[in-house]
Amino acid sequence: MSTMVIDGKPATARSGKTVEIRDPATGDLVDNVPQAGVDETRQAIDAAHTAFRAWADTLPAKRAQILMKGAALARQHLDEVALLLTREQGKPLRDSKIEAERFVENIEFYASLSASGAIRGKHVQLSVPGAFGLVVRRPLGVVGAIIPWNFPLTLLANKIAPALAVGNTVVAKPASTTPLSTIRLVELMNEGGLPPGVLNVVVGPGAVVGQELIKNPKVRKIGFTGETQTGKQVMAEAASDLKHVTLELGGSDPAIVCDDADLEQASKAIAIGRFFNAGQACLAVKRVYVFDSVADQLIEKLTARAKKLKVAPGSDASSQMGPMHTAGGRETIEAQLKDAVDRGARILAGGKRLRGEPFDGGFFFEPTIITDVPWEARVWREETFGPLLPIARVKDLEEALEKANDSEFGLGSSIFTRDLKRAQVGIDRLDAGYTWVNTIQVAYDELPFGGTKHSGFGKEHGVEVLDFYTEQKSAVVVGV
Ligand code: NAD
Repeated sequence: MSTMVIDGKPATARSGKTVEIRDPATGDLVDNVPQAGVDETRQAIDAAHTAFRAWADTLPAKRAQILMKGAALARQHLDEVALLLTREQGKPLRDSKIEAERFVENIEFYASLSASGAIRGKHVQLSVPGAFGLVVRRPLGVVGAIIPWNFPLTLLANKIAPALAVGNTVVAKPASTTPLSTIRLVELMNEGGLPPGVLNVVVGPGAVVGQELIKNPKVRKIGFTGETQTGKQVMAEAASDLKHVTLELGGSDPAIVCDDADLEQASKAIAIGRFFNAGQACLAVKRVYVFDSVADQLIEKLTARAKKLKVAPGSDASSQMGPMHTAGGRETIEAQLKDAVDRGARILAGGKRLRGEPFDGGFFFEPTIITDVPWEARVWREETFGPLLPIARVKDLEEALEKANDSEFGLGSSIFTRDLKRAQVGIDRLDAGYTWVNTIQVAYDELPFGGTKHSGFGKEHGVEVLDFYTEQKSAVVVGV
């Protein structure tokens, strides 16, 4: 049985309660994990609180050295971690490996910033003779990192890497269905030399563990990724203690395909953008607006790609798309599809559960493409968190932008065109935290990432994330 990690040591739950982790491809039991209550969450917070001062005072280069050692250890265990991730989450093994590698790279990126002295304050000349000002960056204290199940490792790294690099301590809370790979990485980071209490992991329901993190006054920052509804609740509750929050929430990313686009390139990027991780990505192409004159060609290419995708359990080396993560997630996609079809939409590819061996024990759903979808359909308004792609025809860029922005979400977006002017207009006018031009929706360590509107606020990645894990303090110095 895996255990939690509190104060550098393996930890179980006093209640003796455990959470069953099941494989979404088969329903088989993978492992049991202790289920924390308020007591264990407080222990982890207390440990992080006690560890904070010494970690914050550790020289940045030394912090970097320790983080690099943890990252190196994690790199030696990529296959083991990837297998855990596939078994608990469902994604294809090669995607799990990429995700585990991204975890390591993210830790290395922020450790390098810390080691190189790139994390800086400012010196400010004041309008008083003999005085100067300093803007000093200080870590915030204990950070609660609340993570969803779709990319457990990437989203863990997005929070702990910058947080630890600048001297905060962390209590991580993975989703209850995907704690195993997180626990293993936290163990390895601790083995790498993090002092006890600097990085802890507790497993348990959001309503218990998550709530304690949000309400406990010793926690000064919540880094949250999850659904928009949960995020709103997190923000309201964190407000009573004036905690810092970063909210990375839901999305419904539009892709615009202009009549001058390279349609081969566009169809490839959109198919990956929609079907990667069985469509369960925040940054996923969830709506397509294509110019009428090239719509038939694009639809044909996308439909062919969807039909060709190899759907299989993640542990099958040939799998390109695994099962959905939960029965509930699949039912939601089915309900959104039915709503569209009932209103007149046409299914061009997929639309059904996969049956027979090896699918019956898992939550598989075919890569699905629909068109002629009326504007009132749920798929245009709601987040579709599964392999379902609606395509709409538009007459020009103006109509495409209007429809793309007609959403409460504003996470990612993309535009495919060879015309630089159109690309510029897209970048200027798409209401989103990110716009990709002629390429796949991938987040880079070097660029800040985060949503607008109901997709949240605050940034992860880039040097910009450091503003969300430090506070800036002014000092005035006068020579005596
Ligand atoms: P979720 O909101 O149900 O859960 C996310 C995390 O919050 C889990 O650890 C959960 O246990 C915890 N939680 C739930 N209720 C809580 C509460 N009341 N108080 C404190 N914590 C609580 O989200 P999910 O279904 O796990 O993830 C899918 C969602 O996440 C999608 O909407 C997706 O778009 C979004 N997401 C966003 C990003 C981004 O970067 N913007 C990235 C990945 C996923």
